[in-house]
Amino acid sequence: MNWNNPLAKRVLDLKPSPTLAVDAKAKALKAKGEDIVNLSAGEPDFDTPDHIKEAAISAIRDGFTKYTAVAGIVELREAIGKKLKRDYKIEYSIDEIVVSTGGKQGLFNCLQAIVDPGTEVIIPVPYWVSYPAMVELSGGKPVYLKTTQENGFAIDISKLESLITKKTRAIILNSPSNPTGAVYNEETLKGVAELAINKGFYIITDDIYDEIRFDGRSPENVLSFVPEAKEHVIIANGVSKTYSMTGWRIGYLAGPQPVIKAATKIQSQSTSNPNSIAQKAALAALTGPQDCVKEMVAAFKERRKFIVERLNAIDGIRCNMPEGAFYCFPNMSSFYGKSFNGKKIEGSLELADYLLEEAKIACVPGIAFGDDEFIRFSYATDIKVIEKGLDRLESALSRLE
Ligand code: PMP
Ligand code: GLU
Repeated sequence: MNWNNPLAKRVLDLKPSPTLAVDAKAKALKAKGEDIVNLSAGEPDFDTPDHIKEAAISAIRDGFTKYTAVAGIVELREAIGKKLKRDYKIEYSIDEIVVSTGGKQGLFNCLQAIVDPGTEVIIPVPYWVSYPAMVELSGGKPVYLKTTQENGFAIDISKLESLITKKTRAIILNSPSNPTGAVYNEETLKGVAELAINKGFYIITDDIYDEIRFDGRSPENVLSFVPEAKEHVIIANGVSKTYSMTGWRIGYLAGPQPVIKAATKIQSQSTSNPNSIAQKAALAALTGPQDCVKEMVAAFKERRKFIVERLNAIDGIRCNMPEGAFYCFPNMSSFYGKSFNGKKIEGSLELADYLLEEAKIACVPGIAFGDDEFIRFSYATDIKVIEKGLDRLESALSRLE
């Protein structure tokens, strides 16, 4: 081997998750005593509800601390099946469900299971930061489908059709979206499903924010409108966001049995079962009282209104009203080309750096999501903190010349 080149090719171009990197930087500065307003993390600020914690404590006391089935305990897969039936009106047996160490590992396993080197996965832009890296790690090629702020970041079906080739294996949908908060409508989902059925590819629907919607409607995905597409659809979801359980690391996939079997096989050779105690906690989350979800969603809704109204009141910012999740994605491009102390703001990276250094606000540059015109702010934090951040933002932007 060439000792001067000790790492595998696949990691040489791999960048660490930018969302986790900004959050880690903000937390490190805070630990050093800096007064940082952290609007970067995609993580609810609420504590995990008590009844969920109690289930985990009981699991430890009862000695539920050994390996479980690789795909997760039967009761949890049954509870996931019930949730999918309740929300999407589709039946999934326990053999069509695998529980993983977070939604992220579920998505990773899913791509490893269906993507061959040289095949293509269509990713609407803006996208969640990890999709392109996961596709590339599976040997596939991300194919980008641009959407626009003016059209509410909706998918243009004829544009999608023009990107489909013989190599297309899948499209990844994320609705409500991280980072835009946009929700796909029935017409879009029917259009994507029709193409998937006619041309033969998978729809991976990342529903991790499905219960964090502000229109009062219950969760919807492509199967709510086209149940006959079931064999083409792989659902990725988890408990991190809905139940404020980011650290517990429980997510899941539901889909055609061969895909689930393959993802489980990959899991059996990599991480084995997800944490047994966290599985019991996730079971309590899915089967216990759901008032905690309603309360958190109501708080996000109030914060959303506050942050978006304040952002749009600043000259030069244009921000759509998010329909779900807990992010807003304002267009900041009118500030590009301006300078501070002779340093030019060329794009979202420089703007995010400027805001961190001069205003002590942590946020994620739009380029991390594939669109440099924007910045992502998370409003999964206390309204007082958001207010302080916006005061600082307004003042910092007014100092650019
Ligand atoms: N998908 C999206 C769009 C996300 O924002 C996240 C948050 N990290 C995930 C999947 C995975 O979440 P987790 O691994 O915490 O379940
Ligand atoms: N999904 C969250 C975010 O986008 C958490 C960070 C991550 O997993 O990348 O901020």
